[in-house]
Amino acid sequence: MDHPLSHTKPENFSKEQLAYFNQQLESWETSKILEWAIQLFASKIMISTSFGAESAVLLHLVTQIDPNIPVLFTDTGFHFPETLLHLNDLQKRLNLNLRILKPTLNTQDFLNQYGKLYETKPDQCCAMNKVEPFQTALQDYDAWITGVRRDQSHTRQKLVFVEIISNPNGWLTKICPLLNWNSKMLWDYAKKFDLPYHPLWSRGYLSIGCSPDCCTRPAQLGQDPRSGRWANKDKTECGIHTLPLSAQKE
Ligand code: SF4
Repeated sequence: MDHPLSHTKPENFSKEQLAYFNQQLESWETSKILEWAIQLFASKIMISTSFGAESAVLLHLVTQIDPNIPVLFTDTGFHFPETLLHLNDLQKRLNLNLRILKPTLNTQDFLNQYGKLYETKPDQCCAMNKVEPFQTALQDYDAWITGVRRDQSHTRQKLVFVEIISNPNGWLTKICPLLNWNSKMLWDYAKKFDLPYHPLWSRGYLSIGCSPDCCTRPAQLGQDPRSGRWANKDKTECGIHTLPLSAQKE
C-alpha cells in the first residue's frame, strides 16, 4: 500500500492521524480498503453479517480477497426463516467460513424466563441476544469489517471508514468499506455477479433484523431503508454499532 500510514495499525494512530487517514480513505476504491485491512490484520480480521437484504455484496467483495476470512453471524433465535435460507444459499455459493454466535439462553428458555422482551424492553433483548454474544467473540480479533452505509439512515450519516473501539483485549479496529455505497451501486454489483438478495427484500423489507413485527417491518414509503426497524420506537440500532462514547478511544 502506498500511503505512509497504511503500514501502521490504526490503534497506534494519534487522533489527528486517524482523522487524516479517514479523509484519505474517502477516495480509496472499496477493494483497496479491503486489501489494506486484510493484509494488515491477516488472521486477526473478520467480517460480520446479518444475512440481511444486500449482505451478499460485501461478502462477495471480501471473499474474493480472502476466501477463508471468518464470517460472524449472531443467531439471536428470532430470525426470519427466510434469513436462514438466505444464509444457507450464500454459504454454498461463496463457501463461507461461517462462525455462528449464540446467546447464553436458547430461545425457548429466554421466552420462558423473559417473555416477549422485544415488545417491552427491546434494548435489553438486543443486549442479551445480539450484543453480548458478539462482544464476546470480538475478543478473538483485532479488526472487524462491517457493511454499514451512510445512506441507510440519518443516524449513520456521520460514520467514518475506520474507528477504534474498545475490546476486552485492548483495541479493535472497525472498518466500514461500504460507507459511500448506495442502493443502486449494490444492485448493479449484485446483478453483475449474479448474487441473490434476501427473499424478503422484494416485499419491501429493505433492512432486515429479527422477525417480530416490532423489530422489522417493510420500510416506510419515502423514509430511509432502516425505517422499518423498531418502527414507532426511539430505538434505531441493536447496539453493536453504538458502543458508548466512553468506550471509544480518545
Ligand atoms: S432485534 Fe428484536 S428480537 Fe432481535 S434481539 Fe433485538 S429486540 Fe430482540
